[in-house]
Amino acid sequence: MTAPAPVSQQSLRIADIPRPPLTPGHIVLRVRACGVCRTDLHIVEGELSPRRDAVIPGHQIVGEVVEAATQMWPIGARVGVSWIGGVDGTCWYCTHGAENLCDAPTFTGYSVDGGYAEYMLAREDFVFALPLTLDDLQAAPQLCAGIIGFRSLRVAGVEPHERVGLFGFGASAHLVIAVLTAWDCAVYVSTRGAAHRALASSLGATWVGTERERPPVPLDRAITFAPSGDVVVAALASLRKGGILAINAIHLDRMPQFDYDALLWGERQIRSVTNMTRTDAHDFLAIAAEIRLRPQVTVFPLEKANEALVALKSDAINGAAVIVP
Ligand SMILES: [Zn+2]
Ligand SMILES: [Zn+2]
Repeated sequence: MTAPAPVSQQSLRIADIPRPPLTPGHIVLRVRACGVCRTDLHIVEGELSPRRDAVIPGHQIVGEVVEAATQMWPIGARVGVSWIGGVDGTCWYCTHGAENLCDAPTFTGYSVDGGYAEYMLAREDFVFALPLTLDDLQAAPQLCAGIIGFRSLRVAGVEPHERVGLFGFGASAHLVIAVLTAWDCAVYVSTRGAAHRALASSLGATWVGTERERPPVPLDRAITFAPSGDVVVAALASLRKGGILAINAIHLDRMPQFDYDALLWGERQIRSVTNMTRTDAHDFLAIAAEIRLRPQVTVFPLEKANEALVALKSDAINGAAVIVP
């Protein structure tokens, strides 16, 4: 990507560029699969301002180590790369167990090149072992949609057996619902698109409605996935007193005015979900293996990366999109 533009204008271009040279502390990976995330769309369309002149998007990468083998990652090892490509390790947040909030983070596919490519460079201490039970296509969407979706559950303080609302039902929500059903939670899904509602029902949602419908019971927790402030307010209106709403979105169109007395008073909380820690990744990947989490995947060849983003933008993907070079 050289300049942000609407994906309908084919903003990504295929180019032959040199394989990334190895630098200290890194490994070179051959990309086997790369999940498509809504954040990629925000980067490509410029809702997140560019960090460099040209960048290769993609931050849900399953790769194979081809250079700079370490004891931890021998040649041929299969690893995953996520959105946080590195942190400084020295700022206040890094030294207080909150590396997701690092003052000087590296973002894969945004501040450094990502996985819509044949090869990429990754920090050796920011790649993850992947459960052997997951093939490349199944593992890729777990690496942001899954991990940050799981972090949303932590931010919302979800406990087993609670009533949890999911507002929007894309790649992240369709993974999160598997964790919630494993925890015996009752899941209420409000989303536009009949196909998304049908998928939510088939994955065990207790209740499914359109984006204009309200869950029939007050919720203990709510998580919003749509990049829309109106959805945040709708979710807030569904919370019981003391309930927590987690916003799983790196970008919102705007935050509308809302009535404090009716919607926030009563010790309701709104929290954003920002990036992920390596602990989130390890914990989530262990749970994903244990519950045999299987995403629903639509595959696009690398040459069709623009089409993958167009499909995501128009809600045409049910489950997750994955690019294969
Ligand atoms: Zn830091
Ligand atoms: Zn992402």
